[in-house]
Amino acid sequence: MIQSFQNIPDLLRLSDPQQPVYCIYPHVYDESTKHFLHGFPGRVLYAVKANNHPAVIETLYAAGVRHFDCASIAEIELVSNLCADCTTYFMNPIRFTGDARSAQQQHRVRHFVIDDRSGLAPLIDEIDPKSSIIFARMAVSHESAQADLSAKFGAQPNEIPALLSAISNSGAEAALAFNVGSGVEDPLAYEYAIGVARDVLKKVPFKIRLLDIGGGFPKSYPGLPVPELDEYFSSTQNAAEELSLTDDGELLAEPGRALSAPGMSAITRVLLRKPDRIYINDGLYGIFWELRFKAHLQYPFRVFRNGQLLEGDTRTLRIFGPTCDSEDELPAALQLPVDIDVGDHIEFGNIGAYSLSGRSDFNGFYSDNIVSITDPHSRPP
Ligand SMILES: *Cc1c(COP(=O)(O)O)cnc(C)c1O
Repeated sequence: MIQSFQNIPDLLRLSDPQQPVYCIYPHVYDESTKHFLHGFPGRVLYAVKANNHPAVIETLYAAGVRHFDCASIAEIELVSNLCADCTTYFMNPIRFTGDARSAQQQHRVRHFVIDDRSGLAPLIDEIDPKSSIIFARMAVSHESAQADLSAKFGAQPNEIPALLSAISNSGAEAALAFNVGSGVEDPLAYEYAIGVARDVLKKVPFKIRLLDIGGGFPKSYPGLPVPELDEYFSSTQNAAEELSLTDDGELLAEPGRALSAPGMSAITRVLLRKPDRIYINDGLYGIFWELRFKAHLQYPFRVFRNGQLLEGDTRTLRIFGPTCDSEDELPAALQLPVDIDVGDHIEFGNIGAYSLSGRSDFNGFYSDNIVSITDPHSRPP
């Protein structure tokens, strides 16, 4: 159990934290997760890599998530130990020898993926094909994605029919998967990719049951607004109507960011104030590591002094992390209260995706202070 507080002012007054504190708002996760589960026309797998903290996984589970997209045996074990009635999927074409076997024998994993003919024999060697579903991962990219996920993995569309037939001949159920990218800014990207899948499937002599359209569903950040998720759901729905899957056919999605981003914030503390800049206790080697990749450049935020909102005139200030690396500066300067000073706290919202997982202890700065905020009226910035 993690510590809990009613709201942020309480947390700040009671603990005046020196270390960064990462706050889970379960009611916010509950809302955004249910919205996704009800809106997406198919089965929803949470991509564990986006945020693998047990408290986040449990919160998503409580909101109704039962399927988990895992990339390693460690992720499969993590999820299996947290929820006995969940289904884990081993959706990485790269695996250590023996891991597919233990995933199946110890955790009843039935879904696997390959993206090349060479991946089939070693996989079949470790699993029972008759009770397994093997996805062929297809490379598709769309210019609207902030990160291309087809540069590393995926067979070309023209190789897919042969790959699906080889899977089917092995005795496993053949299925198709793709990933348009991460942070996909145009809902039509899914329509486009499903169209590619439809054309490919016409060249396959049997129907498949499962089409996994991957992750990539974006969230808005300051300076980087994206369309509402509902537009992605209807774009997907429209395109899927033209697909010919089996009668019990199903779409799958693997959202990571869309499920993990909304319900978490990071509370940081100002350690030093200079006229045009501040230094805070977290940075690009900590919770803000994703900002190094220059998709979004900032998070929504608010400032507290002695547990109360600090408002009034603002000015532009550069924000630096605590390490000795001069690159450790947030990529966007922020409009902050003119008199912000040492001991004030800045809470950054919408920070649940690609933040906790991936932070490092570079230079000795690392916080594992994770709490939950219980008042359902509390919202992150
Ligand atoms: C990273 C990843 C996801 C999740 O991507 P988001 O952009 O966070 O939704 C889903 N599937 C696979 C295979 C991935 O590598």
